[in-house]
Amino acid sequence: MQNFTGHLALITGGASGIGAASASLIAGRGARVILLDRDIRGAEALAASLPHKALAMELDVTDRAAVARLFAVLADQGLRPDILINSAGIREISHPLDLAPEDWDRVLSVNLTGSFTLAQSFARVLRDSGRGGAIVNIASTSGLLASENRAAYVASKHGVVGLTKQLALDLGPLGIRVNAVAPGVVRTAMTESYFDDPATVARLNAAYPLGRPAEAEDVAEVVAFLASHAARYVTGVTIPVDGGYTAGRKK
Ligand code: NAD
Repeated sequence: MQNFTGHLALITGGASGIGAASASLIAGRGARVILLDRDIRGAEALAASLPHKALAMELDVTDRAAVARLFAVLADQGLRPDILINSAGIREISHPLDLAPEDWDRVLSVNLTGSFTLAQSFARVLRDSGRGGAIVNIASTSGLLASENRAAYVASKHGVVGLTKQLALDLGPLGIRVNAVAPGVVRTAMTESYFDDPATVARLNAAYPLGRPAEAEDVAEVVAFLASHAARYVTGVTIPVDGGYTAGRKK
């Protein structure tokens, strides 16, 4: 079991789903967590239930000025994060011929540009303080394979996988590890509607070699591993957390 005592983790998208599960898991293992979300009420409600003086701060990851302000506030308050989990994300389902330009821009700007903006500011702080740290990006099986009617999402998540490798290369010498997880379908607010329909549930269960889609906690365990000292020699990888979905085609 990892021990995160003495660590401070920033978690974007920390109010819900995979971000919330990851925050709960590592807080339970000793970390102080700061939940960053545009949904400040959700973030505050979760932070209030977590140990080690968990905090919630409102942040839209697409707002670069707000990200700069956030890191200034953290510095002012003497808060020195050494773990960043980029979980804020959105999805758009459209045939590429119908995809509105603003939807393309929105998905890319939250999922890909937002992850980069946070990583850049975080890494600058670590460089300036001479400390190492870890970044875990939440990619997707849509970062490894295409998926019908998800051009913007698939492009953004392939971007996250590439960004993970690139940052690992460039930040490794600073002692900063950068990895990602690639979940398949995870039961969260993003996918809740799938679970209303028994035919969709049966189709999903059949698609996953392990017989079911994931719960957020299944993913959070791997996020925690990658953020932890146990993964100290691991950087630049994207680990599928997909019940075997990308292992091969089922007949
Ligand atoms: P979720 O909707 O439960 O949580 C996403 C969180 O991100 C929400 O709290 C939301 O308020 C926040 N958010 C969205 N845009 C934001 C912004 N601009 N700034 C700050 N916060 C913002 O969804 P989830 O399933 O937990 O998704 C988390 C990540 O996991 C996403 O990157 C998603 O693409 C990825 N993912 C999800 C699944 C799945 O099936 N649920 C599968 C693979 C990957």
